[in-house]
Amino acid sequence: MSRGDKLGESRWEILSGWTLAYDHFEPDEEGLREALTSTGNGYFCARGAADWADADGVHYPGTYVHGGYNRETTILAGRPIVNEDLVNLPNWLVLKLMIEGEEPIGLDTVEVLSYRHELDVRTATVSRHLRFRDRAGRETTLRSRRFVSMANMHQAAIEWTIVPENWSGRVEVLTALDGQVTNRGVARYGKLEDRHLTAGTTRLLEPDIIALVAQTRQSRIYVAQAARTRVYGESGEIQARRDLYRMEDYTHEVLSFDVEEGSPVRAEKMVAFYTSRDHAINEALGNAMKAVGRYEQFTKAFDRHARAWDELWSVCDIMVPKDARVQLLVRLHISHVLQVCSPHTADLDAGVPARGLNGEAYRGHVFWDELYIYPFLNFRLPEITRELLMYRYRRLDEARRAAKEAGYEGAMYPWQSGSDGTEETQVVHLNPRSGHWEPDLSHNQRHVSAAIFNNVWRYYQATGDFEFLLDHGAEMMLEIARFWSSIAQYNPERGRYEIHGVMGPDEFHEKYPGSSEEGLSNNAYTNVMVAWLSEIAQEVLNLLPERRRQTLCDRIKLTDNEVQTWKDMSERMFVPFHGDGIISQFEGYEELEELDWEAYRAKYGNIQRLDRILRAEGDDPNRYKLAKQADTVLLFFLFPAEELQRIFERLGYLYDPDMIRKNIDYYDRRTSHGSTLSFIAHAGILADLHPESSWERYMVALESDVGDVQGGTTHEGIHMGVMAGTLDLIQRGYIGSEIRDGVLCFDPKPMDTLNGLSFPMRFREMPLELKLEGGKLTVAAQSDGFSQPIKVRVGNQIQEIRVGESYTFNT
Ligand code: BGC
Repeated sequence: MSRGDKLGESRWEILSGWTLAYDHFEPDEEGLREALTSTGNGYFCARGAADWADADGVHYPGTYVHGGYNRETTILAGRPIVNEDLVNLPNWLVLKLMIEGEEPIGLDTVEVLSYRHELDVRTATVSRHLRFRDRAGRETTLRSRRFVSMANMHQAAIEWTIVPENWSGRVEVLTALDGQVTNRGVARYGKLEDRHLTAGTTRLLEPDIIALVAQTRQSRIYVAQAARTRVYGESGEIQARRDLYRMEDYTHEVLSFDVEEGSPVRAEKMVAFYTSRDHAINEALGNAMKAVGRYEQFTKAFDRHARAWDELWSVCDIMVPKDARVQLLVRLHISHVLQVCSPHTADLDAGVPARGLNGEAYRGHVFWDELYIYPFLNFRLPEITRELLMYRYRRLDEARRAAKEAGYEGAMYPWQSGSDGTEETQVVHLNPRSGHWEPDLSHNQRHVSAAIFNNVWRYYQATGDFEFLLDHGAEMMLEIARFWSSIAQYNPERGRYEIHGVMGPDEFHEKYPGSSEEGLSNNAYTNVMVAWLSEIAQEVLNLLPERRRQTLCDRIKLTDNEVQTWKDMSERMFVPFHGDGIISQFEGYEELEELDWEAYRAKYGNIQRLDRILRAEGDDPNRYKLAKQADTVLLFFLFPAEELQRIFERLGYLYDPDMIRKNIDYYDRRTSHGSTLSFIAHAGILADLHPESSWERYMVALESDVGDVQGGTTHEGIHMGVMAGTLDLIQRGYIGSEIRDGVLCFDPKPMDTLNGLSFPMRFREMPLELKLEGGKLTVAAQSDGFSQPIKVRVGNQIQEIRVGESYTFNT
């Protein structure tokens, strides 16, 4: 057993490649641990709060379901502010223990003899092991295990084992469903309306079942929970006395029974969770009650749950045998990605909230972070990406409407998306440093539409799913390309196309200093993405069979002139440069002032959120050469060097291979990495140039949530983009995979830590096993595959690989 080094303030242990463990209770860290030890199944997810804990300054039990949004208005300084939130749903975790009629056991009411809090990453099972002595000197062991079933999407369960160690007597177990919950998980949102649920009603069908239904206040989603609690001794079920208590929005049952010194007793709370958005139901509450009555006991249900996870691991695991710490964190990230995006998700109308289903930061909204999340899924569980892309397709009309209202054509997707695809970005946000509400212009990050285009194309490249392209993908891509050609303006003096009034991924620059106009001109990242997608849009059109192309073009009224404009744009987008081969983040960037980084570091220590610091000082981040995160350099992360070179050369710009190094050096010095996504991009780019420095950043990204490196953001939700990004980096950055002309190419980096690395991967329906060892890369096509042969390339060696064949390449 080795102890994780101190990072941030968090201490944790590595027990095996599968267990994240904490060996004592730490109130200041409990929120963080709750987010990290969540249990979810891609449909709903609950934070790893202790079963016995109510929401207070330390604990925050939260349960969230995909698509469970609600809009509320807050009157702020006399102005109505509408926000859509992912709603914290009724708390089904509640289990409390009372001994001999005394107050419920909590860590503050007893003397804690030992305490462990663990997440079994393999089955997303959270457990707590508590030994305590109460005021009467009774010593008791309480073990809790909890999972949200990966086998049955509506099922969750908690098992308690109680051992009275030096006493016999009467205990009571209180089991509740609590609808008196609000959205209070993010302190910054404290002034905003936090009531999203109306009072529910409860009914009782069977003596051992309690149930509760609640409704979101505005979106009118019904959420139903039913819980069946039973206790078992060594010789079977104990017939406990049951006392029921019911209010409109809360219900509990107290089970009283006798226990004997040294004899363990188990309590099982089996829970059914349904919402009115579910398929194959009559009515949420009725179905929840019917289901819970049919559930097997905990052990059998757990077994099926664990087997469902095994199936997922067989296609998603990444083995890093040389480093136990990296191994555990990689698996922790896989586990969290799957808790939010599982095969169950593919059956829902779900997008991926940037902060998972683990907290309330960013209100559960969906951002461009998909760009970092989908590559991992594309090569393992592409059927999930497909449906996540459908979330965007279903909101295409809303994106068309947004473009139209802004005076453009095509589809302009929102920066923050929630229930129906309207722009959910808030117009003001609270600067916690100054306590002031400041205007939020971040909706001008139109690059989200380029990211969606990119995601459809990369999904298609990885899977060859032509049907998806025909039926949905092409339409989205063409409408997005059309939006860009309508927002772009041709500047005859330059003979080039320009884009004005937008923001790049760097959110510290919202406009020119002192300007009353929002946005910036010619953000290089955006313009190059647009040049690229304008070309791919033509390729997509050419890929479509004649009749389908004609029907689609007729339907969306696409003209030859528009297609001609795309061609022109792919050759004549403007890209600003300054100095010696430095791509300017946007036009005029070189005229901004240099910031005295050292002075700010000396004064504030952590300066990741320089925007808040500068604003609190009455200054303006727009004045300086600084960036919150990778912006310009993202181009080197997203595109393989050869592809980027082609794009630049087609645009008529000189592409010097040294450009990557020069630009990464330049921007690295001017980036605060205030979004941890930035470490992913920088690590990816440096993988080729400077493997050691790349690995350092990789480790920061890998540790960022578990160590809460942003000083208190993870308790508000995990960072899905970063977690999935660390997984993608292994397959893309370090093993160097890339698809070139339909060939799967690898370029492994010679890194000692990665010796022995192995993982499964799927390329165009071919299941593969990869292993990197002793400078050789083995690619084995599984014998249960049924796909066409694929082509694999390492360096200059190209090999056709068929089902059941394996090939070892020198790297
Ligand atoms: C980042 C964005 C990201 C968002 C949600 C922000 O802090 O700057 O790029 O999309 O978080 O994760």
